[in-house]
Amino acid sequence: MLNHKLSEVEQEIVNMLFDDVEVSQPVKESTGKKQMLFTMQWEAGLHIPFDKQLLPTLQAACEKGLYTVQFFLGQKFSYKRTQLSDKDIQASQEFLTHYNMNVFTHAPYTINLAGSVDSLAWQGNTAIDTKVRQMIAALNHELRTVAQLSYYGNSGVVVHPGAFPKPEEGLQAIAHSINQIEFCEDSMLLLENSAGEGNSLARDFEQIATIIEGIDEEILPHIGVCLDTAHIHGMGQYDLSTIEGIDQMLTDFDSMIGLERLYLLHLNDSKVELGSRVDRHENLGEGRIWSESQESLRHLLQRIHEHRVSICLETPNNKELAAQGIQTSLMDMVKLQRLWEETQN
Ligand SMILES: [Zn+2]
Repeated sequence: MLNHKLSEVEQEIVNMLFDDVEVSQPVKESTGKKQMLFTMQWEAGLHIPFDKQLLPTLQAACEKGLYTVQFFLGQKFSYKRTQLSDKDIQASQEFLTHYNMNVFTHAPYTINLAGSVDSLAWQGNTAIDTKVRQMIAALNHELRTVAQLSYYGNSGVVVHPGAFPKPEEGLQAIAHSINQIEFCEDSMLLLENSAGEGNSLARDFEQIATIIEGIDEEILPHIGVCLDTAHIHGMGQYDLSTIEGIDQMLTDFDSMIGLERLYLLHLNDSKVELGSRVDRHENLGEGRIWSESQESLRHLLQRIHEHRVSICLETPNNKELAAQGIQTSLMDMVKLQRLWEETQN
């Protein structure tokens, strides 16, 4: 494994910049949030398209000034995952030693670790069990791939855990499926909250905590959580347009799951009403959460920064504007950067 050591000059600069902040070379914690080289570093980025190979994908992210990147390692709606060549992985690792980035992938939407909405896994239905084994094989591959990119940042594979009409049974089956995943060193699986649409599970912190409770002890260091703000809004338990709503959400998350498990924030505004149980992302400041005021968004940025949570925007690109060469998701990055700078004054 590559490991960057600070030269004396670099160490001196670091000491000069951060007198009272303990800053050192990145600590390679096994399956834990990484202590970044500069702890004040801006950690936001975007979901971007995967460009057939990893290196050009990371290079494109670098050109856009992203410090966090997420992409699909293959098809959105199929378990088929891309097999990266050793050459591509080595070149990407080398690239990451020069440009630190948090690298996340999003597992396919078709994964349902509960089995299917009609039939529960691990109850003797061989066809369903075979299907779930395919999902697990896809996750094994994706986790192994992403773990090799965990040098200087947070990393992991984000998954929508699954759906089933009876929550208790569904959550149990999901935990059982996760227990069969082969977690290699540095691999992290991040369970994402849902908007509560249909039979989707992991719709609140209690359900996520129930899944985690069912996971074997030795696997737990490989389990984290990805929170999606548009999904929280869709579910309707917390009003993220207010500072109180943000604080209440983080307090509850901490007591039910523990903030140390929060790795990634999918930062999205929402097109729909609070509590509508629908998952529709909107550009920052254009939706039902933050169009009136961005004060609570600034507050959220500050709060999650304390916990070294990476940020990934999954906001839409407006087609008409795209035709004029304007990428609205990139404009969101600029908005975010400005909001963050305001919190620093
Ligand atoms: Zn999301």
